[in-house]
Amino acid sequence: MKVRVESYRELVGDDVVEDIYDAARKARGLHIAHINSTYQGGGVAELLNSIILLMNDLDIKTGWRILHGDLDFFSITKKFHNCLQGGRINLSKRKKIIYEGVNENFSAFTHLDHDCVIVHDPQPLPMIVNYERKQPWVWRCHIDISRLNSDGVSLFNYLKTFLLHYDSMIVSMEEYKKDIPINQRVIRPSIDPLSQKNVELKDSVKSKYLKKFGIPEDKPIITQVSRFDYLKDPLGVIEVFKRVRQKVDCRLVLIGSTASDDPEGANIHHRIISEHGMDDDICIISASNDILVNSLQSLSSVVLQKSLREGFALTVSEALWKRTPVVASNVGGIPSQIMDGENGFLVNPKDYQGCADRIVRILDDQKLAKRMGERGRQMVEDNFLVTRHVKDYINLVSSLTGK
Ligand code: UDP
Repeated sequence: MKVRVESYRELVGDDVVEDIYDAARKARGLHIAHINSTYQGGGVAELLNSIILLMNDLDIKTGWRILHGDLDFFSITKKFHNCLQGGRINLSKRKKIIYEGVNENFSAFTHLDHDCVIVHDPQPLPMIVNYERKQPWVWRCHIDISRLNSDGVSLFNYLKTFLLHYDSMIVSMEEYKKDIPINQRVIRPSIDPLSQKNVELKDSVKSKYLKKFGIPEDKPIITQVSRFDYLKDPLGVIEVFKRVRQKVDCRLVLIGSTASDDPEGANIHHRIISEHGMDDDICIISASNDILVNSLQSLSSVVLQKSLREGFALTVSEALWKRTPVVASNVGGIPSQIMDGENGFLVNPKDYQGCADRIVRILDDQKLAKRMGERGRQMVEDNFLVTRHVKDYINLVSSLTGK
């Protein structure tokens, strides 16, 4: 079914839709290119899937190019990703040659005569130096680059040599802005309420999907939906679950898709399976299935997001939208979505017991769960729907192109 802005009117109201049309009138006919490194798996692909179709519906000709990288390249860029969020790296000459070389080759066959180019995350960042620039370029950084260790500072200084060629940098939170001479803005991410992942499903469909993937509904379900990534702390999730299970008989579902730009996922998935795959109360699922994710986020009694670092965490808004209380780490973009004690609980990611206690509180108190669920829905409705995000993008490209 064609994605249309008009379809959102009933959900978000006339004013929001008319505001989008007003903003789009100025930008009509512009030709925009988004560039990232995967078409599925992870938040960036999720966002682009919705936004790009809606921009086209508004006659803003928006295209999407996906960087071609091999395993070496994506292993290096995953190390960059981890290092910018607290990990270590040996920033060798070899890594730089591979990183820049892949970008150079991709640029050679990627002809960009657009009115504005928007590059997502560090993987395609160096492309810009391979062009005679005729249009504004934007770097959209989706990760938390606010707390860099010494390796992170060296890496950021290297990345800055490319970043300073850009006209603007977009981050998800005010705290992520950097002290560099480049225009910086905050655009908060969003979820698409009409996508397969978030649209309201019939109860029978939800149950059918859980059954199809072998997840019984005989006990309360606690779910974490996340790529298998150490920064999402899947082993910590299991540790928390074991503490919850001492108090309440329940089941854990860990679901993680793999993303082509994240080569670490398979190893982490294997490790979790080999250490915990025999536990009947822990379902470990590796699948890319939006209806299953939707069903889990809505049928779970609690959704957990126990990340150690997090740019934003779309998974939090996705669960809140379904009126499911969320217990999540107080890191990165998560506190912009959860008000502690109101629509969920914020926890210290190292405090397993504190996290387990909060989950038990929700499992034990139906009224609290319901109240949190309603407030969660309202939080997303007010702040994190794709309609707001599309308008932000239109305003961005309008202001950069002078339209
Ligand atoms: N996701 C999914 N299936 C999975 C794991 C993740 O569809 O098994 C989706 C999830 O629903 C969300 C996105 O991937 O839409 C993850 O975005 P988030 O911002 O939470 O984290 P990121 O992966 O970008 O770090």
